[in-house]
Amino acid sequence: MFIIYLCIFFLGASLASFINATLYRIDKGYQYPTIVTKNSFCEKCKKPLSWVQLIPVFGYLIYGGRCKYCKTFVRLYYPISELLLGLSFLLMYLYSIPFYFFIIVIFLFILSYYDSISMSVPRIIVHILLITSILIFFFFQFIPLNIIVPLIIGMFLLLVNVIKKSFGFGDILILFSVGILQTPKQMVCTFWLGVLIALLYSIIIIIRKKIDIKKAKIPMVPFFSVAFVISLIYGEALVEMLLKIFRI
Ligand SMILES: [Zn+2]
Repeated sequence: MFIIYLCIFFLGASLASFINATLYRIDKGYQYPTIVTKNSFCEKCKKPLSWVQLIPVFGYLIYGGRCKYCKTFVRLYYPISELLLGLSFLLMYLYSIPFYFFIIVIFLFILSYYDSISMSVPRIIVHILLITSILIFFFFQFIPLNIIVPLIIGMFLLLVNVIKKSFGFGDILILFSVGILQTPKQMVCTFWLGVLIALLYSIIIIIRKKIDIKKAKIPMVPFFSVAFVISLIYGEALVEMLLKIFRI
């Protein structure tokens, strides 16, 4: 059994590593087929990475997060995102989450990459996610009740934006896309948990880097993505527990 779990974790982590590398190359203007065929190399010294360095998560740990040759620090985003996609795949497999959620999670992973690098998401990918979600909704789920919470959250965020621009329109569309595939309780959990994790993260970077709170700008998609996977599995139970604690 353990071997199967390990394989599924590495499937997710390797996919994460592959997507990160591919998006990086697209960003740098590589042409097909070099986008997929070229060996990975260090951004600084241009030396090719060894197979040990290429092992998701562990390659980073073994070399202490630095390039083997020139000791340049590797962006922490890579091992963390690999770890998270690996864990997400493993948890979703263990809890028998339907296959189409894996597709949604991969979309969120791609969008998180862009959001974390440029604080914006490519509109075209958001639109493809939206269409995919709507198709899944009609073909596999069709629970009209599920639309209510994402609609309310979407309108709430648009309203917040009128007062002070806080959420990108991309964020709102992404939340709507993932929300229609979750139960109302799961969706409430995705939203608030995402906001909570983002808040914790901003407190940490404000303290560590001593940034002005008004200038601290953080990408929301990675946090909503993590919250989405947690809510798929524990959302119902978490919200039930909170309702019981507050006796609602
Ligand atoms: Zn190097």
